[in-house]
Amino acid sequence: MDSARSSSGSKYECLLFDMDDTLYPLSTGINLACRKNIEDYMLKNLNIEKSEVPRMCLELYREFGTTMAGLKALGYEFDNDEFHDYVHGTLPYDFLSPDPVLRNLLLSMPQTKIIFTNADKAHVAQVLTRLGLEDCFEGVICFETLNPPLEAADEPDPDDADPDSCTSKPRIICKPSLEAIEAAIRIANVEPEKTIFFDDSTRNIASGKAAGLHTVIVGSSVLVPGADHASNSIHNIKEAIPEIWEGTQGEQLEQVIQSTAIATVILA
Ligand SMILES: [Mg+2]
Repeated sequence: MDSARSSSGSKYECLLFDMDDTLYPLSTGINLACRKNIEDYMLKNLNIEKSEVPRMCLELYREFGTTMAGLKALGYEFDNDEFHDYVHGTLPYDFLSPDPVLRNLLLSMPQTKIIFTNADKAHVAQVLTRLGLEDCFEGVICFETLNPPLEAADEPDPDDADPDSCTSKPRIICKPSLEAIEAAIRIANVEPEKTIFFDDSTRNIASGKAAGLHTVIVGSSVLVPGADHASNSIHNIKEAIPEIWEGTQGEQLEQVIQSTAIATVILA
């Protein structure tokens, strides 16, 4: 057997999945509701001019990866958890329903499966539970994983900090920065060349490729820069990348399905 192949027979050992608009379609309306809540937060809690909010929301998202990261970079001060509670607290999660087809598909994949999202862990738990996928992943890399709260001991000592860094707040680490992708690879403890990364965002795919991952653009039937594969739906992964199941057949597949249903662990 090729030494580069895992014991399952596939040349891939890990699958990294974005969650929102990747494990369920954009058309559910969650994304739109989320953007509306972010705009609402900017207006009501950060007192940003109403006429400026939509443009600023979009521009910060484009430049910093998430609007939240952009707001922090501009110097707006707010509590991360409070922001997430506000933005996700009233989302229409009822729009999401169990997806047994995807569940069986995921459980039949012999690789380690990890969620890699910019969202916070409460939102991840809601979405995975609504989709009936809460036990399909070995781990979750989310906002809290890449942006752990500063412990008192980690706070810089004001006496020996330089004047500039005294007032600077920690940056938000999130996709599509290469730093975030490389952090996820390190935390998941995987080899990029043996890992497939699924995401609906073209810029995340480009960064994933730059970090050495195999990439699949989800929600598109055409390849984008940096994508090795394109799949218009996560349901069509088998057609897009049959290599995932290479060497896994029949009884072995049954065993894989039975042994893969596990408790998902937040990697933080
Ligand atoms: Mg997404």
